[in-house]
Amino acid sequence: MSSRIYFDHAATTPLDKRVRQAMDQYLNGSFGNPSSMHYAGREAHAGVDEARADVAALVGAHPGEIIFTGSGTEAANLALRGVLERSPTGAHLVVSAFEHPAVMETAKFLESRGVDVTYLPVGGDGVVSPESLAAVLRSNTHLVSIMSANNVIGTIQPVHELAEVAHRHGALFHTDAVQAAGKVPLDVSRTPIDLLSLSAHKIHGPKGVGALYVRSGLDLQAIVFGGGQERGLRSATENVPGIVGFGRAAHIARSEMGVETARVVRLREKLFEGISATIPNAYFIGDRYRRLPGHLCLGFAGQEGEAVKLLLKLDEMGIAVSSGSACSANHAGEPSYALTAMGLDPIRARGSLRVTLGRGNTETEVERFLEVLPTTVKSLQTVASHRGFAVRA
Ligand code: PLP
Repeated sequence: MSSRIYFDHAATTPLDKRVRQAMDQYLNGSFGNPSSMHYAGREAHAGVDEARADVAALVGAHPGEIIFTGSGTEAANLALRGVLERSPTGAHLVVSAFEHPAVMETAKFLESRGVDVTYLPVGGDGVVSPESLAAVLRSNTHLVSIMSANNVIGTIQPVHELAEVAHRHGALFHTDAVQAAGKVPLDVSRTPIDLLSLSAHKIHGPKGVGALYVRSGLDLQAIVFGGGQERGLRSATENVPGIVGFGRAAHIARSEMGVETARVVRLREKLFEGISATIPNAYFIGDRYRRLPGHLCLGFAGQEGEAVKLLLKLDEMGIAVSSGSACSANHAGEPSYALTAMGLDPIRARGSLRVTLGRGNTETEVERFLEVLPTTVKSLQTVASHRGFAVRA
């Protein structure tokens, strides 16, 4: 195998060279603390201000509505705890049943503290329907949290309609847009979203930086206390190089989104067609078109038990893909709750492969993958049938 192929952009993305260049200045020369009043502080402050404007522009927000955090996970924690810890005991929270652990685990924590949580089922196409949301809302629903796009399946959610339904019932609406941002247009000035979580490392920015959009006028309970940075919602000396990198990554993602989306969708469709034509027992999970540009989730009927082996075989060839979700690496071989939430049986939910393309991937890489995948799957079929697995078409 000559060069390596990275098809796991939903897990994380390589740092864009232009982002690293922007960060360099703040790692070396402009090292100041943005809270300091002298020249070094002012330089750092200016870098953070520019980044805030760029991140805001990515989602149609005002810069003052962006709170930088230490990750997408922290942003989601702040959104949910920030609303519910200010709400009366017994307040109702609705989250979809296939949220990322950043939301799911926060919801469970809040549930243990007396919040009444509904885990909203997902349709068989991997989409949460506004009608199903309307059916569970109550007069004491304080917050609805439904992701913009799912990290395992890749399906894009009808966020506009879901947010309207939530508002009609008097609830606030949070969306975890960590996977969607920079790939599909998001505009909080046109969509009634109150809170939106972002993460830099999914858009070719650095790891360990996130942001929460907080609609102007909305009061949240802080979850980190200290010196009062980020309007008191996220105390801590700012990660200036990280924030600057996030800003640059957001700027690039916004300005290149149109061209890049079309390019990556073409690659994804080539992959879809190629796999469908050459691997008879392959099946795809989630709506075919209502999905992130580079995201495919698939399985091989009768071979679900071999998914981790397949991943490792591809890895031996220098090809990085994921099984279900990178976040579940500690749970390899267990059914993915995101897949069972959309009604997949536990066998299929255990054996999915996630292939996520992004910036830098080429047609040659897709062709190379299409060359090796059928034989790799077939080689495992022999193992599977020796063990008595039936291989269904
Ligand atoms: N939300 C979704 C949908 C994600 O895919 C991820 C990361 O995988 C996160 C939140 C967490 O973001 P971070 O890695 O910045 O904590």
